[in-house]
Amino acid sequence: MLIALDYDGTYTEDPELWHGFSFTARLRGHTVMVVTMRHENDSNKRELGHLAGKIDGIVYTGRNRKKDHMASLGYYPDIWIDDKPHLVFHDAVPQQIHTRKNLKSRCSACKHVFCPVKYIIKAY
Ligand SMILES: [Mg+2]
Repeated sequence: MLIALDYDGTYTEDPELWHGFSFTARLRGHTVMVVTMRHENDSNKRELGHLAGKIDGIVYTGRNRKKDHMASLGYYPDIWIDDKPHLVFHDAVPQQIHTRKNLKSRCSACKHVFCPVKYIIKAY
């Protein structure tokens, strides 16, 4: 079986559990890949570098729905392990970019002045 294991909020919640799981699964002939919504960049590659040798690969979907992204690469997981299973089928909500100017207005996504969506304040 090909097992797709989420990273943030799944693997990160109990790394020892998932190391043991991955070790046993691979020993039994299964393939374990980490599939994350993160972007493929140097920072993320460094952060997830500790997974080398413990899993069979890492796929960065860049906020795109996991199932379609994996299929585009020729991977069809038999099992998905994910704390947010809807992200297997749906794109992630884009991060809101707030500037000092648009902080005075309401968020276009959630209509709150200070929205609960993770945001980045651009410093000027
Ligand atoms: Mg997650």
